[in-house]
Amino acid sequence: MKTYEEYVESMRDGRVVYYRGEKVKDITTHPILKHTIRFLGRIHHGYGLSEQQVKDYFFTHPESGQLLSKFYIVPKSSQDLMDRFQVTYNFTKDSLINIAHIGSDMFTAMQMVAVYMGDEYAKRAQAFSNYLIHNNPVLAGAQMDVKGDRGLRPSQQKDPDMYVHVVDENTDGIIVRGAKTHTSWAYAANEILVIPSRAMGPGEEDYGISFAVPANAKGIRMICRPAIEMEATKLEMENARLRTSGHFTEAMVIFDDVLIPWDRVFVYKNGAVASQLALAFALNHRFTAVSYRACLATFLVGITKLISEYNGVAKVSHIIKNIATLISYAEMQKVCAKMAAYECQIDPKTGIALPNPLYTNLGKLYSNLEHMNAKEAVIDTAGGMAITAPGGEDYMNPELRKDIDKYLAGSNVSGNDRFRLFLLLREGLGLYGGLEDVGELHAEGSIWPSVMELWRGYDYADIKKTILNFVKD
Ligand SMILES: Cc1cc2nc3c(=O)[nH]c(=O)nc-3n(C[C@H](O)[C@H](O)[C@H](O)COP(=O)(O)OP(=O)(O)OC[C@H]3O[C@@H](n4cnc5c(N)ncnc54)[C@H](O)[C@@H]3O)c2cc1C
Repeated sequence: MKTYEEYVESMRDGRVVYYRGEKVKDITTHPILKHTIRFLGRIHHGYGLSEQQVKDYFFTHPESGQLLSKFYIVPKSSQDLMDRFQVTYNFTKDSLINIAHIGSDMFTAMQMVAVYMGDEYAKRAQAFSNYLIHNNPVLAGAQMDVKGDRGLRPSQQKDPDMYVHVVDENTDGIIVRGAKTHTSWAYAANEILVIPSRAMGPGEEDYGISFAVPANAKGIRMICRPAIEMEATKLEMENARLRTSGHFTEAMVIFDDVLIPWDRVFVYKNGAVASQLALAFALNHRFTAVSYRACLATFLVGITKLISEYNGVAKVSHIIKNIATLISYAEMQKVCAKMAAYECQIDPKTGIALPNPLYTNLGKLYSNLEHMNAKEAVIDTAGGMAITAPGGEDYMNPELRKDIDKYLAGSNVSGNDRFRLFLLLREGLGLYGGLEDVGELHAEGSIWPSVMELWRGYDYADIKKTILNFVKD
C-alpha cells in the first residue's frame, strides 16, 4: 500500500464485492471499478499527478519517511484547518471532481474520541495511527446505517441489525453484525473505519461502538451501486470516466458476524463517547463538504459565463443575474469554510482543532438549499442545448463534425468549441447530475441535521439580552 503499485496489488485479497448482481473476481481489471483505484491512487499515492501537484498535496511524514496525503495532517490550529480547506479546494479544482477525504475526517475524529475512552483505547488509536503513517492504507468511512424505520430508535427496531451492533465478544475481540450503506469506495479501500450514525441512548450500549476492519475480513460483503454509465462517447472516454461514472461508487457493506480484534476497537459500549464521535466526524466531514462544494460551484460560474458569451447573451440582464446567483453560491460557501477554520475550537484533551460548528453547518445548509437554484441559473442560461447536443461519436465522424462546426457556431466561437463545452455541461447536468443532486442534498449529511445543529448550537444569550433591554420598563 505504500506505493500505488502496492496498493493495486493489495486489492487482490479475496474481498467479496458484487457489481450489478455479479461477484467481481478482480476489481483492478473490472471495466468500471478499476477507475476507482486510479482515482484513489491519485488521492493517496499521487498517481498521475505532476511533480508540482505531488508537492502541493503530499508530505513526507517525519517519523515514518512515508509519502502521505496532506489530508492526514491532524489539524491543531486555525491555520491547519485553513490549509486543509485550501488543499481540498485546489485538489478538487485540479481533478474536476469532488475530493471528499472521508477517511481522514473519520480518522481524526476517532483519534480524538479514543482518548476519552481511556488509556487502553488511546493506545489502540495510537497504534492504528502508527500503522497508517507507515503503510498508507486507503481508508473508507462507514457511518450511515441502513436504519430501517426512521421513526424508531436502534433499540426499538423489529430487526436489531438495522444498526451495526455487537452480538458477542471473546478473548480475541468483538463480533459485529448489521449493514452500513452509501459507503463511498469501500470496495477499493484497505481498511473500513466504522462509527455510529447517531447518538445512542440508555439500553443501546451494543450500538455504541467504533472500529477499523480490513475490507477483506471474513463475513464482509459489499454490494456496489451501479456507476452511472457514460453515453458511449469515444471523445475523451477515459478522462470522462475518471471524472464521472468510473471515479467511484458507493457500496452497502454487510457485516455478517465479523470478528474485530480488540486492538482495532476504539469505542466500546459507550453511548456518550459514541455520540461525541458521530458529531465530531460529521463536523469534520461537513467542513470538507463546504470546502469542495465551494470549488464545484465555481465550475458552474465558469461554464455558465462561457456559455453566455458563446451564445451572445452575456450582457442580458437576467443572464447577469444568473451569473451573480452562481457567484454568490460559490463565494458564500468559501466564506463559510474560511470562517469555520478561522474561528475553530480546540479540543481540550487532544489539542485537535475542530471547525467552527456554526459556520460549518451554515455553509453546508446553504449548499444544500441553494443547489437547485444554482442549477436553474445554469440551465436557464444554457438553453436546451444543455442536454440536446449531438454525441461524441457524431463529433468523431468527419462528415458530422463539419455539420456540428457549422450549425453549432455561436457568437465569435466555432461550432466545435461550443459543442465541446455543451458536452461537458451535459456530462455534469445530465449524466453525472442526478448523482450530484442527491449528493449535494444528502452526502455529508441531509438538510435537517444542519438545521438542528444551527438551532441547538446558536448562542442566543447576548442578542436576547439586547432585545430585552429595549423592551423592559
Ligand atoms: C453520494 C453519497 C455518498 C455518500 N458517502 C457516504 C460515505 O462514504 N459514508 C457514509 O457513512 N455515508 C455516506 N453517505 C450517506 C449520507 O450521509 C446519507 O445519505 C445522509 O446522512 C442521509 O441519510 P439517508 O440517506 O439514510 O436518508 P434518510 O435518513 O432516510 O433521510 C431521508 C429524509 O428523512 C429524514 N429523516 C430520517 N430520519 C429522521 C428522523 N429520525 N427524524 C426526522 N427526520 C428524519 C431526513 O432528514 C431526510 O429528510 C453518502 C451519501 C451520498 C448520497
